[in-house]
Amino acid sequence: MLIGPQNLAVQVNHVRSRIRLAALAAGRDPASICLIAVSKGKPAESVRAAATAGVTDFGESYVQEANSKLDQLADLPLQWHFIGGIQSNKTRPIADRFHWVHSIDRFSVARRLSEQRAFHAAPLNLCIQVALVPEPTKGGVEPASVPELATAICALPRLKLRGLMCVPPPQPDEAAARGIFARLRSLLEELNASGHDLDTLSMGMSGDFESAIAEGATHVRIGTALFGDR
Ligand SMILES: *Cc1c(COP(=O)(O)O)cnc(C)c1O
Repeated sequence: MLIGPQNLAVQVNHVRSRIRLAALAAGRDPASICLIAVSKGKPAESVRAAATAGVTDFGESYVQEANSKLDQLADLPLQWHFIGGIQSNKTRPIADRFHWVHSIDRFSVARRLSEQRAFHAAPLNLCIQVALVPEPTKGGVEPASVPELATAICALPRLKLRGLMCVPPPQPDEAAARGIFARLRSLLEELNASGHDLDTLSMGMSGDFESAIAEGATHVRIGTALFGDR
């Protein structure tokens, strides 16, 4: 399906009502769930149209693509979330221009972001990406390594560790998807029980965000269901 500005508003409203229903079914306040519109591979005009439809938070995966889009959208007060793999030599524009990074899986990258974050800027919000299902080609730290990385990141000055993120592969059914998201939630609860104060579970994409909301997602990252196929 081709999605232009008019039906983009329709798609935004449709996704928002699905989020609302999933939240209510879980006994949660729909306002406690942040919709991140994943605009990778889509032009700045699509972001502008989604912003006009009320979306405030956008996710990008590639530094170069994001840079040119942010230039074109500098007039809009948007929150930008970096959700892609990070090469250590490409941290500067992320530290300069983004509000959140969801895909931290190495201390060295967090340290560079902290060093490069401007002193006058608000701390950069971070999530640790957890590989709940081992996939060698994808990013993420194994669950057992999360506590040590979390403690190390908390010692860095220009960052604020907010929580955990995951990108599991598509699951055969809803029960399996919920099982995976429940593991990310338990991991967050364990960190908080050991003294952290984390409030973010970044989980759920177009194919599984209702399951993620049922298990406590605070941020859902949705591309295809809003903007169509990439
Ligand atoms: C592309 C991407 C998404 C959005 O995926 P859709 O299936 O299009 O909703 C979410 N999170 C990450 C990390 C992505 O790379």
